[in-house]
Amino acid sequence: MSASHIYLDNNATTRPYPECIEAMYACMRESYGNPSSKHGFGDHARQLVNEARAQVARLLGAQVAEIVFTGGATEANHMAILGALALQPEKRHLVVSAVEHPSVLQLARHLETQGVRLTVLPVDASGCINLSQLQAALSEDTALVSLMWANNETGVLQPVEQAAALARARGILFHTDAVQAVGKVPVNMSAIPVDMLSLAAHKFHGPLGVGALFIRKGLKPPPMLFGHQERHRRGGTENVPGIVGCGVACELAAGELDASAERITALRNRLEAGLLARIPFARVNGANAPRLPNTSSVSFGGIPAEMILQRLERERIYASQGAACAAGATEPSHVLLAMGLPTEAALATVRFSLSHDTTEAKIDRLLEVLPAILGELAGIAA
Ligand code: PLP
Repeated sequence: MSASHIYLDNNATTRPYPECIEAMYACMRESYGNPSSKHGFGDHARQLVNEARAQVARLLGAQVAEIVFTGGATEANHMAILGALALQPEKRHLVVSAVEHPSVLQLARHLETQGVRLTVLPVDASGCINLSQLQAALSEDTALVSLMWANNETGVLQPVEQAAALARARGILFHTDAVQAVGKVPVNMSAIPVDMLSLAAHKFHGPLGVGALFIRKGLKPPPMLFGHQERHRRGGTENVPGIVGCGVACELAAGELDASAERITALRNRLEAGLLARIPFARVNGANAPRLPNTSSVSFGGIPAEMILQRLERERIYASQGAACAAGATEPSHVLLAMGLPTEAALATVRFSLSHDTTEAKIDRLLEVLPAILGELAGIAA
């Protein structure tokens, strides 16, 4: 992709920091040992993995021993949910929200077919769960509450701290899929009663295919992948370059978190104000809820998002329709439907997700071309 493109699909994945690429390249070139080998190459690789573990732990306000590296967030989510159920075979109830990522929701639905009792908490029109409904759903039989920190489609933040406290008060384990939150908003495991938390490095300028599960000290869910690695918690030879890249991304994200959130929020507000001023029928989803700084989900009447995105791509502007993971499917987003959007509006929704690479000039270019595209498409649709 050339420098002139405008990439606004950062919730799908982000451009890796140059520092990550350098560190990963150096690792593959010079530090190619297996961390389990009992010689110098192994020792060095093991040291790199442990340095990265410390970098992840620092970003999360966690202890080093609480971080387990995985092959991404889908795996981390599975590890948390399956681990909580395996740890407490007497408890067969799982609570999730209706707006979870498919890596949680589809697993939960699958487990339901295997005899697990499932509660899917609804959300209100702004995309938030209701804490009283969560409270009412908890029972003696509840093994785990899994509630995402921030939604990948709308950026809406769930009341994770309060929800985790409710679960803790009942002695129930609490997991959060914090994939879209980590690196964008402060996440501090020393301050809130979360038992497990998933992250993916590629959502905050690290590499694809590597993530981590925070498992609070003292909690010992059985592994999903057996083997001696990661202190028997996740078998399989470590993806050392990926882990190194993940560590560097955490370090850099921690350093720029506050400044970056402020700058990106201003850009997001500029984008939304500009769109609403120019396009009277545009609606921002979740606008009244607490949200991530970088995400804007906008419905454009009944104009199919697919067509809008095609036209935008001709202008070298890249955004997405609903979740990228569901790209190719023409089904409306389950997140937007859960918020009460009609199917037509859900199919007319574009997600713009910004990052530290986004500039004012890029937002202004979008604001320049989009109204004309919509005008043209509205004419075709009419
Ligand atoms: N959870 C959320 C909220 C996500 O946005 C994603 C990716 O889009 C995932 C989980 C899964 O991450 P990965 O595909 O890297 O395993």
